Amino acid sequence: MKNKDSVRLEMPALSVNEGFARVFASAFAARLDPTLEELADIRTAVSEAVTNAIVHAYPDGVGTVVLTARVKGERLLEYTVKDRGRGIEDIPQAMTPMFTTGGEERSGLGFTIMESFTDSLKVTSSPGKGTTVRFCKKIAPRL
Ligand code: ATP
Ligand code: MG
Repeated sequence: MKNKDSVRLEMPALSVNEGFARVFASAFAARLDPTLEELADIRTAVSEAVTNAIVHAYPDGVGTVVLTARVKGERLLEYTVKDRGRGIEDIPQAMTPMFTTGGEERSGLGFTIMESFTDSLKVTSSPGKGTTVRFCKKIAPRL
C-alpha cells in the first residue's frame, strides 16, 4: 500500500519563500530524529531545487512550486520539488557540473550539490510543461 503520510507545500516561485521551504523540509524530517548533518544535507538539497524553480522555471512571470515530503521507507525520506515552468530540454547536460544557462551569477553546481548531499536523485522534465526533482535521504538509526 502506498504510504499516505505525505505533506505538501504549494508556494509562489519567489525567493522570499525559499527559507520557508527549508524550514518545512526540516520540520518534516524531525520525525526521524536526524543528526544536524543529515538535516543540513536535506536543507541544502531542497534549497538548491527550490532555487532552481524560482530562478529558471518561469522566465516570464511567477509560477508555482510544490514541495512534498514523505517517509518512503522505515528510515528514508523522499522530497519532490515540482514546477510547471519552461522545463529542461537536455537533462544530462543540465546536470553536468558547471553547466548553466544562468550567466555569470550562477555556477552551474546546483544539481551536483543535490546529488552529493542525497542518496538518490531523479530529474524528470518536459519542455514547456515543467520539471520535477525527486530525491531521497536515508536517516541513520539512532541508538
Ligand atoms: P547554481 O545552482 O550553481 O546557482 P544553476 O542553477 O545554473 O547554477 P544547476 O542548479 O545545476 O545550476 O542547474 C543547471 C541548469 O539546469 C540551469 O542553468 C537551468 O538551465 C536548468 N534548470 C535547472 N532547474 C530548472 C528548472 N526547474 N526549470 C528549468 N530549467 C532548470
Ligand atoms: Mg541551481
